[in-house]
Amino acid sequence: MHVPGLHKPQENPLPQLPLPMSTQSTHSHIMNPAIYDHRGSMSTERTSTSLEDASEIMQPRIRRVARVKGTYRLSDFIIQRTLGTGSFGRVHLVRSKHNLRFYAIKVLNKERIVKMKQVEHTNNEQQMLSYVQHPFIINLWGVFQDAGNLYMVMDFVPGGELFTLLRRSNRFPDPVAKFYAAEVALALNHLHTQDIVYRDLKPENILLNADGHIKIADFGFAKSCETTTWTLCGTPDYLAPEIILQQRYNKSVDWYALGVLIFEMLSGLPPYHQAEVNHMLLYERITRGPSFIRFPAAFNENATDIIMKLMEGDASRRYGNLRHGAGDVFAHPWFREVDWDRLASREITAPYLPRINGDGDASAFDNYPEDNAASMYGLPGADLHGNLFPDFEYTSPCL
Ligand code: AMP
Repeated sequence: MHVPGLHKPQENPLPQLPLPMSTQSTHSHIMNPAIYDHRGSMSTERTSTSLEDASEIMQPRIRRVARVKGTYRLSDFIIQRTLGTGSFGRVHLVRSKHNLRFYAIKVLNKERIVKMKQVEHTNNEQQMLSYVQHPFIINLWGVFQDAGNLYMVMDFVPGGELFTLLRRSNRFPDPVAKFYAAEVALALNHLHTQDIVYRDLKPENILLNADGHIKIADFGFAKSCETTTWTLCGTPDYLAPEIILQQRYNKSVDWYALGVLIFEMLSGLPPYHQAEVNHMLLYERITRGPSFIRFPAAFNENATDIIMKLMEGDASRRYGNLRHGAGDVFAHPWFREVDWDRLASREITAPYLPRINGDGDASAFDNYPEDNAASMYGLPGADLHGNLFPDFEYTSPCL
């Protein structure tokens, strides 16, 4: 689509980029909706495969074997309430009729996925989550489908989004931001060692477990990428310059997003935030590079330095993407006091413990209108798209 308002010299125009697919303004406590709204992710219909000719960044191929997942159907669960909404459906808190435990089920409408040309991304999400097992990444128990929808059964992460905690706190003190950033860095490194690029890092996608540790959710844009890819997707504030310039990219984009995340946690807003949303201006600023960022005086020197190194405009010089990979990030002076081994085994006490009143307490999540959505699940009908999602087992709601 065309984004108007670009008056740049012809020889170096910014490419035409899509707008975010959805935003949700559901925060009832909001003073300034522009700041408190969830930021929608976006994607072009164009998807890509890895490029075999990009030998300079070719990594060894890892044979990935998906974990065996359970077999589920809708009638195994009682749907309790909505935890969040996305472009293609919603996430519900559910309770298993068998073991009485609580889970989160992400329901995706097949028709909508097909219309928005996100079939490949949806299958990627299922596949990536099947491979990945990490303490700071959401656990997927199984997937199934019926005539109208796809269902992904995940652990229920009760502490809510880091986004909500951040907006309520305005900004995090340096050690708090460092704690979350360090856990995110470990999770990204884990994905990258398996040749998975995450591509949608932002506080909305970082959930807090009951013990205060993070769980990264929403693998809608995650992709197996052994070399480079070029799909344009992510969330505007968090897009790396190479995505905006529609160049080939790889895991470098996740490290860039970590820089944005650290800035947002420390200051309360992303680095190029403007009161009035103007995506073209935002993209211009991103491509001009981090030397134009105005850093608040309160930032400590090391924090500013790691943000600059992660938000480096030239991906070949960006921290996380150099010869030592994530090692450079882990060794940066801002992270000096982090004991990475203890952090990885969740032995470091989290800075904030969500207030949770027993299993299934979802009070950390915003209230969403239920709109009788659950009554539309499991209905019989023509299944026009089932063959597009071969890894989602077909189940009958009545059996
Ligand atoms: P997603 O479409 O995956 O981004 O999910 C939309 C929202 O649903 C997230 O931002 C969370 O607020 C919520 N959510 C997703 N997965 C879970 C989960 N496993 N546990 C609790 N809440 C979740």
